[in-house]
Amino acid sequence: MRTVLITGASRGIGAACAKAFAAKGDRVILNYKTSRQKAETLAEELNGIALCADISDSKQVKTMFQEINTRYGGVDILVNNAGIAHFSMFDAMTDEDWNNVLSTNLTGAFYCIREALPFMIHQKKGAIINISSIWGICGASCEVAYSAAKAGLIGMTKALAKEVGPSGISVNCVAPGVIDTDMNRTLSEETMQALEEETPLGRMGTAEEIANTVVYLAEDCHFMTGQILSPNGGLVI
Ligand code: NAP
Repeated sequence: MRTVLITGASRGIGAACAKAFAAKGDRVILNYKTSRQKAETLAEELNGIALCADISDSKQVKTMFQEINTRYGGVDILVNNAGIAHFSMFDAMTDEDWNNVLSTNLTGAFYCIREALPFMIHQKKGAIINISSIWGICGASCEVAYSAAKAGLIGMTKALAKEVGPSGISVNCVAPGVIDTDMNRTLSEETMQALEEETPLGRMGTAEEIANTVVYLAEDCHFMTGQILSPNGGLVI
């Protein structure tokens, strides 16, 4: 049985990934930061476990992995999904805003990968999937820190794929378009409508559609590493 850790699995895309892996018979570990009730309820439903850790804090990530390693030896599949958005003009961003966005979306993935790798290297097998965004590919106005962090994940994916490929580990990236989750609830109705209209398929994507892409990349039969798959309805071609 494969052990899968999904960061930020209490809601949205992470929760959909947990469901999709569990449906394939995998053991799922649902990481969360604040939504304890949601994460625990879903973990129970999926016969998995929920673990609290702020992934932007290396000590909390270490503690989470100590628990995982004691219980299961390590993780076979790591999905770096936890993320936060931040909308503001570039010159209005404080040091704290910038650091928050970078440490959650980019550095958190570094902390998790660093803890997950020793077991994968020992097994000579493993899959790492980083959740970036179309904005990491083409940049979003008023989301510069987010775009920078998501572009960083793409660079990290490509470089790390070269480094750990010889150890039998694949590193890939999913860069979704606009997806119907809590993350976009703060956007105005007009902005959402405009984004849907700009999307050739004419709608937002679903968390389940992104989860299907993640599950696909976790299979080790595709000869796929260092790649960026972008389920985005044609918004970025
Ligand atoms: P969401 O519904 O807002 O859920 C975010 C998840 O991340 C929650 O489970 C949250 O946990 C967790 N999280 C946030 N900060 C964390 C931290 N420091 N430590 C641990 N967990 C943390 O977001 P989503 O739309 O599903 O997004 C998931 C990923 O997809 C993100 O990386 C996002 O950037 C990316 N993405 C989303 C879209 C989109 O349109 N929705 C598009 C492209 C890419 P709590 O519930 O405990 O706070």
